[in-house]
Amino acid sequence: MQKNDTFHHALIVDDQKCIRCTHCVKVCPTEAIRIVDGNVLIREERCVDCGECVRACPRKAIGIDHDDLGLIHRYKYRVALFPSVFVGQFPERITEDKIYASLLKIGFTHAFEVEQPIGVLKDLIREEVKANKSDVPVISSFCPAIVRLMQIHYPSLTEHIAHVKAPHDLAAYYIVDRLKNKGIDPADIGLFYITPCVAKIAAVKAPVGEEKSIVSGVISPTVIYNKIMAVAEDVPPFDKTKLWKELTKEGIQWGLTHGETWWQNSRTIAVDGIHNAIKFLERLENGEIKNIDYVELRACDRSCAAGVLLEQNRFLTVERLKHRAKRYPSGDKKAMTEDPEKYVVLREKMKTDEIEPCPMLRYGPDMEKAMTRMQRARNIMCHLPGIDCGACGAPTCQALAEDMANGVAKMSDCVFIQQLWQKDNKVEPEKAFVRMEKKWGEKRFDPDCTKIGAKNENN
Ligand code: SF4
Ligand code: SF4
Repeated sequence: MQKNDTFHHALIVDDQKCIRCTHCVKVCPTEAIRIVDGNVLIREERCVDCGECVRACPRKAIGIDHDDLGLIHRYKYRVALFPSVFVGQFPERITEDKIYASLLKIGFTHAFEVEQPIGVLKDLIREEVKANKSDVPVISSFCPAIVRLMQIHYPSLTEHIAHVKAPHDLAAYYIVDRLKNKGIDPADIGLFYITPCVAKIAAVKAPVGEEKSIVSGVISPTVIYNKIMAVAEDVPPFDKTKLWKELTKEGIQWGLTHGETWWQNSRTIAVDGIHNAIKFLERLENGEIKNIDYVELRACDRSCAAGVLLEQNRFLTVERLKHRAKRYPSGDKKAMTEDPEKYVVLREKMKTDEIEPCPMLRYGPDMEKAMTRMQRARNIMCHLPGIDCGACGAPTCQALAEDMANGVAKMSDCVFIQQLWQKDNKVEPEKAFVRMEKKWGEKRFDPDCTKIGAKNENN
């Protein structure tokens, strides 16, 4: 299989909305963001699409590159694929059958919860764990932000990532197969994933370990949520018995923390939150984690219930899904063995090739040059104040020193160095100010009473 070796980023910064507050610069766990020439710059080779910057931005200036809902009408058969956490977004009065019926009302011809056939994934993971001969546990491939994090920052761990695709791929293959059996031409089928997070957009547009996803487009959950809320009270009842044959407790909770580990019968651990995941991966890389068979790592706190594109409270979403799951059978009792042949085909489709590392080399690929640059950065650090104020546009003094050593920043970017130079008459105050304006934009330092916390905020 030809594999995709590019990476798609779905973040777009709106320079008109951005106020250069540096909140995003400071929260980014991979130090991917800088302020350059008055604008926010996301360094693609470092970004893992975790969405922390989107969450932190007070101006909603970081937008997401979704597909337009109108795209669905290019297809005769339009399938809405959505994760169970999307169902958990709605208030109790909007029951699951109303959600399904509303999806049909707003233009889809089929609605399918992606975790319905999760039994296939559960079995594949169990088998991979059983076959693992390494001291290092099998690591979940579920969260695309975590997979990307390992590829870039923990490349030695990528060989331990489970070789299974994501539930949305599983659901896509499953529904296409079902529709084909009804005589429908696959060319007429459009599959649209209602994504809870940024990383899953990247996973659809440029899937890791495979050439191309069969999903046709990715739609914003906010757009769909609002449309459903507008029609849900009046939709006719929906015959759910036909659609939810395979939905299980496991499937409904798969996107929550412990969603994968609860069902394993070996020693497992579940870690959520990108900073917790980073700390855990460091220990794993150092060989400090022993006797664990399977590791579930999710970039968001409370996993997909906290997907950055979902607007409802994550704790309520978790509660609703747990409550909902009680009404469904366990997958162990309801294995997908009704049609053993199809089960085998689906299993094969869900396997991925080895996931390749693509390490982000801080100082470039040339080892000799890299050593020289690293030494240069350490020398520069002797002169920087170590305050990590972010006024240079980099998240920390160390990140600025690294940028300087790589030739993409200057000593004059540091406001404290500028002050010292002015004190020692090494630079004219006027010139220092022009440099500041270049970094932060013209008029950035004019009084503005509409800024956050100022007397006319929001006016
Ligand atoms: S998505 Fe995550 S990694 Fe990428 S720039 Fe934002 S905070 Fe950084
Ligand atoms: S967090 Fe601040 S600097 Fe970053 S995009 Fe939003 S407004 Fe701009």
